[in-house]
Parts: sequence; C-alpha cells; structure tokens
Amino acid sequence: MAAQETVDHKYVYDFSEGNKELKELLGGKGANLAEMTNLGLPVPPGFTITTEACQAYLATGREPDGLAGQIEAHLESLERAMGKRLGDPQDPLLVSVRSGAKFSMPGMMETVLNVGLNDQSVEGLARQAGGAAGQAASGGADRFAWDSYRRLIQMFGKTVCEVPGEEFEHALDDAKHAKGTHNDLDLDADDLRGLVDAYKKIFLKHTGREFPQQPREQLDLAIRAVFESWNAERAVLYRRQERIPADLGTAVNVVTMVFGNLGPDSGTGVAFTRDPASGAQGIYGDYLANAQGEDVVAGIRNTVPLQELEQLDKASYDELLGIMARLEEHYKDLCDIEFTIERGKLWMLQTRVGKRTAAAAFVIAGQLVDEGLIDLDEALHRVNGAQLAQLMFPRFQLDHEFQPVAKGIGASPGAASGTVVFTSARAVELAAEGESVILVRRETNPDDLNGMIAAKGILTSRGGKTSHAAVVARGMGKTCVSGADEIEVNVPAKRFTVAGQTVTEGDVVSIDGTTGKVYLGEVPVMPSEVVQYFEGSLDPEHIDNALVRAVHRIMTHADGKRRLAVRTNADTGADASRARRFGAEGIGLCRTEHMFLGDRRELVERLILARAPGEREAALAALLPLQRADFEEIFREMDGLPVTVRLIDPPLHEFLPPLEQLAVNVAVAQERGEDVAKEEALLAAVRRMHEENPMLGLRGVRLGLVIPGLFAMQVRAIAEAAVSCARNGGVAKPEIMVPLVGAVQELETVRAEAEKIIAEVVGDSGVEVLIGTMIEVPRAALTAGQIAEAAEFFSFGTNDLTQMGWGFSRDDVEGAFFWRYLELGIFGISPFESIDRDGVGRLVRIAAEEGRAARPGLKLGVCGEHGGDPDSVHFFHEVGLDYVSCSPFRVPVARLEAGRAVVETGGSDSR
Ligand code: ADP
Ligand code: MG
Ligand code: MG
Repeated sequence: MAAQETVDHKYVYDFSEGNKELKELLGGKGANLAEMTNLGLPVPPGFTITTEACQAYLATGREPDGLAGQIEAHLESLERAMGKRLGDPQDPLLVSVRSGAKFSMPGMMETVLNVGLNDQSVEGLARQAGGAAGQAASGGADRFAWDSYRRLIQMFGKTVCEVPGEEFEHALDDAKHAKGTHNDLDLDADDLRGLVDAYKKIFLKHTGREFPQQPREQLDLAIRAVFESWNAERAVLYRRQERIPADLGTAVNVVTMVFGNLGPDSGTGVAFTRDPASGAQGIYGDYLANAQGEDVVAGIRNTVPLQELEQLDKASYDELLGIMARLEEHYKDLCDIEFTIERGKLWMLQTRVGKRTAAAAFVIAGQLVDEGLIDLDEALHRVNGAQLAQLMFPRFQLDHEFQPVAKGIGASPGAASGTVVFTSARAVELAAEGESVILVRRETNPDDLNGMIAAKGILTSRGGKTSHAAVVARGMGKTCVSGADEIEVNVPAKRFTVAGQTVTEGDVVSIDGTTGKVYLGEVPVMPSEVVQYFEGSLDPEHIDNALVRAVHRIMTHADGKRRLAVRTNADTGADASRARRFGAEGIGLCRTEHMFLGDRRELVERLILARAPGEREAALAALLPLQRADFEEIFREMDGLPVTVRLIDPPLHEFLPPLEQLAVNVAVAQERGEDVAKEEALLAAVRRMHEENPMLGLRGVRLGLVIPGLFAMQVRAIAEAAVSCARNGGVAKPEIMVPLVGAVQELETVRAEAEKIIAEVVGDSGVEVLIGTMIEVPRAALTAGQIAEAAEFFSFGTNDLTQMGWGFSRDDVEGAFFWRYLELGIFGISPFESIDRDGVGRLVRIAAEEGRAARPGLKLGVCGEHGGDPDSVHFFHEVGLDYVSCSPFRVPVARLEAGRAVVETGGSDSR
C-alpha cells in the first residue's frame, strides 16, 4: 500500500487551542470553554469539533475525511491527561457530547452526558467513586454509578436513537411509585439497577438493537446526532424566527464529565453575574445539590437560590464569586454561567455574555462605565434603537392578579387590551362604535386587512415572526402576538379556549406584543418611564431610577457623537412640539394635505369643480388664510429650527367622496325629487378624475403644473407665515419641498413662479426661504446632477422610492405576498421597514453623490419612514446625508442610532 501524504484540514481543537473570538468555527460554547481554559479557570479538559466538520457532514451525509483520526488523536491525549481511558472497565473516563452553535439556541439541540458507561464500566465507576469517598460511602457510590448509567441510556436513547422520551419517564415514575416516593433521590442502587434493565428493554424495543456497549461507538453516534440536531424541526423553526442563517452548522464539544450527583457535597447550578431582567448588581442563580446539570433546567427538583450555597460549601461559593467577578472583568459584560461541584471541587462548564432585557441593557451599560470596565462609546455600542423603542411603548401594569394564560411570539410590540372578535367584519363594526377590539384568528390572510386596521391588536394561534399577521401588524405599528399555540381558536363558534377556559366574542383580553404574553381581562396600562423622561417630566439628575439615568447618559453621549441631525415628520403644532421635546432639530416633512380636510373639504370641492378662473381663484383665496394660520403655528413651535413643507402631494380626487357613495346620493336625491346639480357635478368630476393607478397618476408636482394657482397659494401662505413670525420676534426657516419631481424642468417651472412670490412677500423682512425637492422617483435619483441645479436641498422620500424602485404598491403587496417573500428569503426584512441598501439605497447613494458634485453644500435628508429605522439610519450616515427625519416617537431612536453609527465606523465620517 502506498503511503499517501495528505495534510488534513483541521477539524478538532483542544480547549487550549481556541479562544472567544472563534465563535464562528468553534461555536459559542466551545470558544468560551477555550477562553476560560486559557484564563486558567477550572474547566474539565476536552476538545471541540468545528462547525466546518458539521457543515461537511450535513452536505454529504458522512463525516469528512480525516475527522475520525483527529478525534482519535484528541481523545488519546485527553485520556493521557486524565490518566483514564474512555469506558475503561476499571476506571472509566466519561465524557459529555454537547452541541454549541455560533448563536445560542437555548434547548434547541442535543447534549448527551456520561458517554463511556456500559455494563462493565458502571461497576468500575462505582468502585472508583466509592474508593475516593472511603468505604462508608460505597453504597452511595453504587447509587451514583447506576444513576449515571440510567441517565446515559435515557439521553442517548432519546437524542441519538429517537426513542420517545416519555417511555423512559414512565419507567422512572413506575420505579418511584414502586418505592412509594416522588423524589428520585430515594431510589437506591438496586432500584436504579432495575431501572437500567427497564431502560435497556425500552431501547431494544424501539431501536431493534441492544444499547451499544462500545464506548467509542457511543461517542461517534452521539457526535453524529449533535450534527443532525442542527436540522431538527424545532431548531429550524427557531432559526427562522430569530433570523439565524441556516447554513452555519453546530460545533460539538467533547468534555470530561464531572459529577454533581456524587452526594450531598456535590451539585450543579446556573448563575448570572447581574440581574438579566433589571440589570441590578448582584449574583442571580439557582443551585441544586446532588444532581447532574440537566436537572436544574428540567425542574425535576426545586432548586435553591445560589446564595444558599454559601452555607453548604463556603469554599466553593467564594471561589465561584471570584470567578464570576473575573469573568465580568474579562468579558466586560454580564455573563451567564453553568457550573458543577464535585465533592467540594468547583468546575466551570459554560459561560457566555448573557441575554438581557432592553432595560437591563441600558442599566448594565451605564454601570460598566461607572465601574471603569468600558467607556461611553462602548456603552453606546452595547445598546440599540430597537431596545430603546421597546422601552418607549406603554407597558402593562402587572401585579400578581394577572397571570398569562398563553405565550406566543411577540410579533409587533405594544400593550393592547380590547374586546375579542373573530372576524374582520365584526372588528370594523365594533371599532366604528368606538370600541377597542382584539382580532383573534388562527392565522390572518389578506381578507383580514380591514379588520387588522380597525383592531387595536391582533392575536393568532399560528405563525411566527414572519407570518402574515406579524408582517402586516409591524407595518401598521400595531400590537401583535402570533403563534400562541395553546389557544384553540374556533371562528365559526366565535370562541377560543385556553388553559381550560373559554373566551367568547365580547370578552376582554390583553396582549403584550413585546413578551408575547396573553392575559384574560383588561390589564391596566402604564406609560413608559423613558417616555416621561423624554417628555421632560422625569428629571434624571433628581430621581432614583437607574434606567432613566442610564438612558439619559447614553443619549447625551450619542448626541455628542452623531453627525446626522434628527428632524421629525410633523403636520401639526402639537406633533411638532412633542417631537421637539424628544429632541427633534427641525421638521423634515410637514405634509400639507391634512390642511385640505375636515371643514375645508368644501373649499377643495369648489376648487375642483371650478369652471371659470374666477371660481378657482375664489376657492384658493379662501384657503390661503387657513393654510397661513397652520404654518404660523408650526413655525412658532419650531422657532429657530428649519421646517420643510411639502407642497400638496396626493391626487385631488382623494379629497372627494368615493364614487359609490356619490352615485347612491345622486340616485336617492333624484328619487326624492331633490336638486342634484351639485352631487351630479361631483360625480362627474370623480368619474373624470378616476385613475387606474393613482400612485403613478396626477399627483405631486404634476398637480402644481396643471392646476393654476394651487402651488402659488401654498408658497404664499408659507412665506407670509414666515414673515409674520419674524415680525413677532421669532425665527422661521421654511424650506419649500416639491414632491414627485422626475425631471429638472418640472422643478424649474415651479421654482420660477415660487421665487417671484417669495421675493414679493418677503421683501426686506430678512426671512430666507429655501426651495428644494423630494427625490422619490427613480428618474430623479438618476438625474440628480441636473436636478441639483434647481434645488437647494434634496429630501429622499424613501417610501415612494421603494415603491417605484421595486415596482410594488405598498398597500397591495404587504398583505398579499410579503410573508411568502420573507419565508422564501427573497428579502430578510421588508424593504419598507429597512432600506434595501443594494437597490433603493444605491439610488440614494447615486443621487447624493451626483447632487453634491453639481452643487457643493447641497443639503441632504431623508423623510421616509426609514428615517427612524436603526439599520437605515446607519446607512444614511454612511452615505453622508445631513439629517434623517422620522415620526416623533422615533426621534430618540434615530438620535441613538446616529450616535452608534459614528462609534461603529470608528468615529470616522464618510464624507
Ligand atoms: P445546553 O446548551 O442545553 O445548556 P449543555 O451542553 O450546556 O446544553 O449541557 C446540558 C447540561 O449538562 C448543562 O447543565 C451542563 O452544565 C451539563 N454538562 C455538560 N457537560 C458536562 C460535563 N462534562 N460534566 C458535567 N455536566 C455537564
Ligand atoms: Mg448549557
Ligand atoms: Mg411620496
């Protein structure tokens, strides 16, 4: 046989070879076990099989070449180090085989403990345990060995060979029953020996083979099972929900067993270095004496608070506290850990940077700054806008009176209470009567859209974060809990059952779209403290509230760091003033169309129906003072700050009653013999103005060019309001924004007329009025160099730019098929939620560059909803815009993210 020299790809790493940066390759668990090993902490020796080995296995269905040999070599050196051999009948080395992917997927994949036990080595283990503990404890040692063996058969059977877990549990229950106890600790060695026999029979019955006695075969099968657990159904579902890529694979850790079930001086526990819910300092954990790791989580026996370990084993407790402090100092963050004590000796089995609530994220970041572990830049990096947004939603005021009856997925945040309805029609009906309703469905579909709009919240028993209900609710900013599968929905009977209770139409429920929890009855809602702080009603310097103080400190830092200004979208004085308190530095989008609604509709109708120029002018003249008053109020609220006013944008027929309603009115009036001249004229106008595709029809700048005097009236109202502000000692900084421009000629035409009016109104008042345009039609983005010649600023209307860039109308597509696109991964997130960097974002980038090249100093902003989306804010920072504008409630989120964008690009500025 010719010897072949091949250099094997490295698939196995000893714990001493890895470190915490290698999560991608070694998984989080493996990387952190290596890190702790290298810190000199007591970690049982072991090695990690890489995610690459898993990927290769999953792709080909077999272990990659070289893997078996590398495992053999690492096992041998482990055996040498421990002075024991795997499964040795006299003194067996036992190992655990543990999954661990790059991202933590709690409880999703498999772990097998005590690998290496068989009919012989169980005796050896007992002798060794007994010997070590002295003669007196040998009865306990037998018990321990047989308990470990039965656990191996149970875990191995269940996870490696798919034996139904209940069968083992029933056998365990039977054994306890026969003994007349509920506590597994009351089973003695003989009972457990009997249980092992029973387990082996179960194993044989389900697999058609004996429980494997070869230690190495146990090990190989367990490793393969961990690989395969990556594609277990629940793991696949979890990944989809959490948006974890499907192709990462899991690493496998082979770890020397240490035993928490060796008697009362042994045990196992979990702990956090701070409270992961509130962020409060201190040790939070649970401890269980005489148990193996999985017992803590499984809730087999009641754990005790970790603090009680101090009484049980002070030396180990002190050592543990020391290690936790060391870990925090090393990771500079909240850590969570798993540990085991084997006869008074402490072993660390896992650590990772712990998950935490949004509130804890802020509080902990603040504390770590105080403790000198991180600086404020890092604190800013550690929190995010999604967490801040969560802290701004009103919350349920929960006392013990309210227990959740079900828990689904928090699909769209918020707290909503309301009357249960089961159909869209009923939701619309009750909402029209002013009731708050919660629409409950098994799952929603496009037919439910009206009901979803009418409802205060949506509750479904099926579907995840990308289900129809979830996607549409998030798009609407509506509270939604999806996939609450304990709920049995019966739509025809208009009821659902949960936890043995029946809820019928008309009953009240409360849903928490952040936690996914569902409550019966009306849970009182309380305003968020963080909003009270932003509103100015909580003074962070003078209250004892760790959260508010941390938010204040981090926000202040973000404001100091950010280059992007943050403005708001506001159409009224009230919105403007709230946004200003939230930190808005101007208005980026003031829509003027609402100024045509309500009792002003009549004037608009007159404008539309005007036959002669005189009629039209009269209608416009009547609208002028009304608009002027609106602008005066807004300028007053935004005194000293820029206000971008968009000239009227929607098609005019939106201001007329719907066709069907007019047709009915005319018919009814005719029947009664009434005068129908006006109704008929309106009806004719609606028919005449009907558009197949209004989104692409007569709107925006096109209206201004077609309806004489319309834009002129608005420009005059803006200029006059600004001048009147100045006369009253204020400073108005109006920026007139022309919507839907696609060609520079459109803008030039509007501009020429506007400039004349402005010059005439402004005179020597000192008021300066800028004229610019929205960039929301793809052609505008692509000819931005030309358009910039006639524009002092651009504001990207990314909603329309997304609609026209993708060629889909938002109202139609979100409910119709976005869920499918998300499911297929065509996009990971709706392009209306977060800017599509590659496509729509590219248009923004081109327009920004070419616009600035043509006119240095061109002011650039964005006023689509993306202005308040964390990821999009980072993109707009990168592209070099001057400001983002978003709804008032999003202003703090944008401020925070604009600061984070600077910190994350190393403080550099791309311009
Ligand atoms: P999970 O990722 O579900 O927490 P783990 O791989 O961490 O799964 O293991 C499950 C339990 O078994 C944990 O409580 C862990 O501490 C314990 N465990 C794992 N390996 C060992 C070992 N070598 N010795 C003792 N206990 C172990
Ligand atoms: Mg674990
Ligand atoms: Mg638009």
